[in-house]
Formats: sequence, C-alpha cells, structure tokens
Amino acid sequence: MNDFDGMRALVTGGASGIGRATAELLAGRGARVAVLDLDPSTVDKPLLAYAADVTDDASVREAIAAAVTDLGGQGVLDVLVNNAGIGAQGTVEDNDDAEWHRVLDVNVVGMVRCTRAALPHLRASSRAAIVNTCSIAATAGLPQRALYSASKGAVQSLTLAMAADHVREGIRVNCVNPGTVDTPWIARLLDAADDPAAERAALRARQPTGRLVTPAEVAGAIAHLASPLSGATTGTVLAVDGGMHGLRLRPA
Ligand code: NAD
Repeated sequence: MNDFDGMRALVTGGASGIGRATAELLAGRGARVAVLDLDPSTVDKPLLAYAADVTDDASVREAIAAAVTDLGGQGVLDVLVNNAGIGAQGTVEDNDDAEWHRVLDVNVVGMVRCTRAALPHLRASSRAAIVNTCSIAATAGLPQRALYSASKGAVQSLTLAMAADHVREGIRVNCVNPGTVDTPWIARLLDAADDPAAERAALRARQPTGRLVTPAEVAGAIAHLASPLSGATTGTVLAVDGGMHGLRLRPA
C-alpha cells in the first residue's frame, strides 16, 4: 500500500514506542518522514532525525523548519503526528504544582507548539492531516492517574477544537486513544515493579483481549487517520485499546 507516496510527514516522540512504529510505517507506505525527539540518536535512515524538546519553543521551531527543508517539499508538510508525551502517576495529592506544570507543558502545550510551527507548512499541502496521540485516560476515569488523565483530556478537547478551527483550510485533525501499549515506557514501569513478570501477566489479564496493544497497531490507526484515504474524516477519536472503551471495561 503506497497511499503516502510523495507525502512528507513529521512525527514527534518518534524515536521510541508508538512514534517510532508510526514513523517506520509511514515511511514503508511511501512517505518521507522526519522524527523530532529529545534523543533521536537511535533513529536510522530512511527516517530523518531532529533533536528538540517540545517544551522549548525555539528548539521546536528550529527543528521543524530544518525538517521541512530537508524533506524537500518546498515548504510543504502533509502530515504532523503529535505523539511526544510523558506519564504521571498518583492522585491530586501526590503531584505538586511543579509536576503539574511539567507534564502539562510536555503533553499539552508541547503539542500546541509543534502544531503552531507546522501549520504554515500544512496549509501549503492539499492533503494535510494532524493526528494527536491521546489516551484512553482522557475519558476512562482511571485511578492513580489524575495528572496524566487531565493532560490527555485536554489533548482530546484540543483535537476537536483544532479540527473545527482548520477544517475550512483543508487540514484534518483527529486523535487516537490507545489503551495499554507494549512500548519501552510500559517496560520501564514494569521493570520498576517487585515482580515484573507477575505484573506483566496481571496487566495482560486486565485487557479485554488478554494481551497488550502493540505499537504497530497504534501506528496502523494513526496511518489510517493520516492517509488521504480518510480525507472525509476529521474531529474523530479512534480507540485502539483492545476493546476497553467499546466494551465499557476499565483496568482494575
Ligand atoms: P515512549 O516513552 O516509548 O516514547 C515517547 C518518546 O517521546 C520518547 O522517544 C521520548 O524521548 C519522546 N519525548 C518525551 N518527552 C519529550 C519532549 N519533551 N520533547 C521531545 N520528545 C519527547 O512512549 P510511548 O508509550 O510510545 O508513548 C507515546 C505516546 O503515546 C505518549 O503521548 C503517550 O502518552 C501515549 N500513550 C501511550 C500508552 C502506552 O500504554 N504506552 C497508552 C496511551 C497513550
């Protein structure tokens, strides 16, 4: 399938996990792809790699300008995947103001910064699409995830507002809401447990499908929304959670 032939895409947080799988899938389907990440040292060709911190507006602007030039589309960017994000655990009593500002700055304002820098280039495309990586946490009411859930709730609202603002410019905006995805992030959380193998088994057992979602499955959903084949789809939220939302189930 070469539905991205001749298109140019930029994936934030593309050095690992969901972002890495997405960048590789888009490239495999014909796109020229740039990755923006805090640490892009592991990113290989044909992907282009740019070091930037989404909390630093100047570094975002510089990286996106360089990426758009190097992608060779004469200033055109067709796809922006806003995926960089970090986690947080605990109730509202567990995270102080500094931690709230830090996580919201990455997960929400970081997405705004990347979008602002990319918009002039997306406007120049006839097939422009933005896909934001949100989370089932946006609406599930998960325990011990107050700050993370608030950040992803904001991402879902932001997705719908951006879709409304840019629909007449021909820019589609959608988001994916993954469940628990087997990425290095989840591996780090499991490794910190007393018994990682038992914790992994318990996590699998809590999934409706009995297994974690794979990064490739989230990448597939992102590519679906980014593809010109989804040209009439904007302002939607696509669950990629092994049935958790649709079946009205939630982690214990
Ligand atoms: P990951 O840790 O494997 O990858 C995240 C990438 O983002 C890393 O390469 C990291 O360097 C980069 N990044 C982090 N902060 C950054 C910053 N300030 N500037 C630039 N890059 C930065 O994580 P993942 O599991 O692939 O998560 C990717 C996205 O998916 C996140 O937005 C996360 O909230 C979301 N998500 C993950 C899961 C899951 O279960 N793994 C579930 C739902 C949603």
